[in-house]
Amino acid sequence: MDLRFSADERAFRADVRAFIGAELDPALRRKLAEHRALTKAEIVGWQRRLHARGWATPSWPAEHGGPGWSVVQRWIFLDELHRAPAPEPLSFNVNMIGPVLIAYGTPGQQRRFLPRIARLDDWWAQGFSEPGAGSDLAALKTRAVRDGDHYVVSGQKAWQGMAQHADWMFTLVRTDPAAKPQAGISMLLVDLRSPGVGVRPIATLDGRHEVNEVFLDEVRVPAALRVGDENRGWEIAKYLLGHERTGIARIGMTQRLLARAKGLSSEPALRERAALIEAELKALEITQLRLLDAMRQGHRGPDARASILKIKGTELRQAASELLLEAAGRRAWRAAADEFDALAPAETTIASTYFTLRAASIYGGSNEVQKNILAKTVLGLR
Ligand SMILES: Cc1cc2nc3c(=O)[nH]c(=O)nc-3n(C[C@H](O)[C@H](O)[C@H](O)COP(=O)(O)OP(=O)(O)OC[C@H]3O[C@@H](n4cnc5c(N)ncnc54)[C@H](O)[C@@H]3O)c2cc1C
Repeated sequence: MDLRFSADERAFRADVRAFIGAELDPALRRKLAEHRALTKAEIVGWQRRLHARGWATPSWPAEHGGPGWSVVQRWIFLDELHRAPAPEPLSFNVNMIGPVLIAYGTPGQQRRFLPRIARLDDWWAQGFSEPGAGSDLAALKTRAVRDGDHYVVSGQKAWQGMAQHADWMFTLVRTDPAAKPQAGISMLLVDLRSPGVGVRPIATLDGRHEVNEVFLDEVRVPAALRVGDENRGWEIAKYLLGHERTGIARIGMTQRLLARAKGLSSEPALRERAALIEAELKALEITQLRLLDAMRQGHRGPDARASILKIKGTELRQAASELLLEAAGRRAWRAAADEFDALAPAETTIASTYFTLRAASIYGGSNEVQKNILAKTVLGLR
């Protein structure tokens, strides 16, 4: 392996592992290992434990309450969470709106929101995509019209992950319809309890309630809750989307899927496919460690290699879930915890995990779009 961990880094890993061992409820660990959905209370509870230890916001600078970790420590922390498995800090809060407010928020916005973001007192949703504006995000149509010291916001957002739990939504709106698409967009912080907000679940194949549509009907948002300058939202959105993608390959999760598949079937053809996925996974891990090593030496990264990690990481996760589905056969439709368990099957089956992971190559920038990025940045194609 390219990367040699120092004695301090190895000691740090041992610390993280011991903390997870002592603090993580075994029932929660089991739910995660079986790819079952966690409740809001479970996610909040774990975030509060991390917060009490000073580890809730791994990538934040120390002056804003982060642990002040190196890039390698951050990666080790995530790696240990994935291996345990333990929940990651809520990404919408910790990897998205937190860093955005640190970089672009006013001191007042930082004081008001950052401590609550870190403790998960407020749960945030991401209101970027719309029907007709996903990969082509700059086509978004949700309008915000200035009215005194407020904006009046109307439109529809789509695919808001876990918005059913959310208190707030950071969202992109069109503030100048006459400007070029990217130049007329601003970012607003919307209190989801405001009059005119409606959150409706989207039914998905996996039977889980994970994504939603959010309707905004003349919602009044104080202008003081705009992040950055008016019509500069595109720059902020790009900052947000490029931020903190170190854990994107999720190697630990793929390893767990494979281990379960092998536990369910010893059929030689299946074992052979598992071995092929494992070999590719090892190659992906080495790529990830190379990127980490480059970042440790001052490379600002993650650059085009983040696209490789995204594509390969999701392809292998999907391949492993397909293998698990086949290994389980008819059992894939039964509850994972116990075949005769009365738990709602849609919550707990191997089949629902398989369907959930179909979306991994779409969200976070679809794999086709990542390939376009690679074509431009690595191959120099225009
Ligand atoms: C489970 C899930 C959770 C999500 N969570 C959130 C969330 O919390 N907040 C949020 O704002 N959004 C969220 N999204 C939305 C997500 O960002 C979009 O689905 C994604 O950007 C793709 O956009 P789209 O669905 O409009 O598909 P489209 O952009 O219409 O793409 C359709 C297909 O065409 C391909 N394609 C599009 N453009 C190109 C191109 N230029 N070259 C080659 N191929 C192309 C795509 O890869 C895809 O296969 C989520 C989506 C899912 C599935």
